[in-house]
Amino acid sequence: MRRFDAIVIGGGLVGTAISYGLSRAGLAVALIDEGDVAYRASRGNFGLVWVQTKGLGAPHYQRWTRRSAETWPSLAAELEERTGVALGLQQGGGLQLCLGDEEVDRRTAMMQQMQREAGNFGFEYRMLDHDELAAMLPGLGAAVSGASWTPYDGHVNSLQLFHALHKGFAARGGTYLPRSTVTEAHVAPGDFRVQAGGDEIAAPKIVLAAGLGNAELAPLFGLSAPVRPQRGQVLVTERTTRVWPLPIGSIRQTPEGTIMLGSSEEEVGFDTSQKPEVMQQIARRAVQSFPWLAELQIVRAWAALRVMPPDGLPIYDESERFPGAFTANCHSGVTLAGAHANLFAPMVAAGALDPALAPFSARRFDVPQAA
Ligand SMILES: Cc1cc2nc3c(=O)[nH]c(=O)nc-3n(C[C@H](O)[C@H](O)[C@H](O)COP(=O)(O)OP(=O)(O)OC[C@H]3O[C@@H](n4cnc5c(N)ncnc54)[C@H](O)[C@@H]3O)c2cc1C
Repeated sequence: MRRFDAIVIGGGLVGTAISYGLSRAGLAVALIDEGDVAYRASRGNFGLVWVQTKGLGAPHYQRWTRRSAETWPSLAAELEERTGVALGLQQGGGLQLCLGDEEVDRRTAMMQQMQREAGNFGFEYRMLDHDELAAMLPGLGAAVSGASWTPYDGHVNSLQLFHALHKGFAARGGTYLPRSTVTEAHVAPGDFRVQAGGDEIAAPKIVLAAGLGNAELAPLFGLSAPVRPQRGQVLVTERTTRVWPLPIGSIRQTPEGTIMLGSSEEEVGFDTSQKPEVMQQIARRAVQSFPWLAELQIVRAWAALRVMPPDGLPIYDESERFPGAFTANCHSGVTLAGAHANLFAPMVAAGALDPALAPFSARRFDVPQAA
């Protein structure tokens, strides 16, 4: 039997960020992952560190996302210094374009609500009109009526983030055990054992961060993670000269010059196929926003599955029946990487989740049946 201070199940962005944070806190960590056969949102996402739409009607989520965004620059600097991997983080604010006055009205109401709900925490935003945007964004289409802007948003090369977290985890002495699917476990308070890499792995703490795999794993540990897949499709153009100074919600230019267009939100179960009609919708909206995009070739496209909780908010929990077992689930694992490494992992290391995370418990779904 190999003993560790903590086991993390799931080597995607969520599990690796938490493992990195735990190993930085001095814990000996085993990170167990199923491998390339898995559905992996961490390899198919859009790369936004995005705040402006997060937590409408759920101020605790707005706050958590903001705290993550605040900690992102230090995480990026630390990872770059320790691993030599450049993450390409640009976090000088972001725009969400509105096509037509109706979208502007809806967006304005949304941003006002975000600001109201932020209370003392504050929420800075501006609505920009077409002329202001045209001065900022070369080639803006006439269909764009306005946009919302907040200073908190940004984007990053999320594959490099994934790589840097793994590299940083290994450099801090972490043990990565790939090609190991956890299907059963010995579970007792403060005593968890699973099979991985041909050995029995034991630890007093365990974190379930297996993405869509958490739905099946959580009940074994007295937890609940009713996450479902939600498909997103992304298109990538050939490289072009650098045009925009900041990321736009569904259109972002990478530092290398490609332009990413995305991403759909489709309820199709575990189907990862690409659909021409959805790709057309994505491309049509992008060309309405910037007509010159029609001249560029699409060089890559893919579909991937988000890890979606029933109400879209993250699920963080510690098991009441088996203290020492935790779970983390979310659909914004890039944005929340800062929070997972720098805030969530220290809580697990200290042995209890902060009461500020209580509203994220899956107990919120235990609504009593009406008589
Ligand atoms: C199209 C698209 C666009 C997105 N855009 C953004 C964005 O712009 N910004 C943002 O913040 N987020 C974005 N996301 C979301 C983000 O990618 C995810 O939140 C994040 O990757 C989820 O990471 P995860 O580790 O929870 O899940 P995953 O990446 O799915 O990783 C889970 C891991 O668990 C392992 N596993 C599963 N079951 C088991 C088991 N039983 N035993 C062992 N291992 C197991 C799997 O091997 C897998 O590696 C996007 C997602 C998609 C699909």
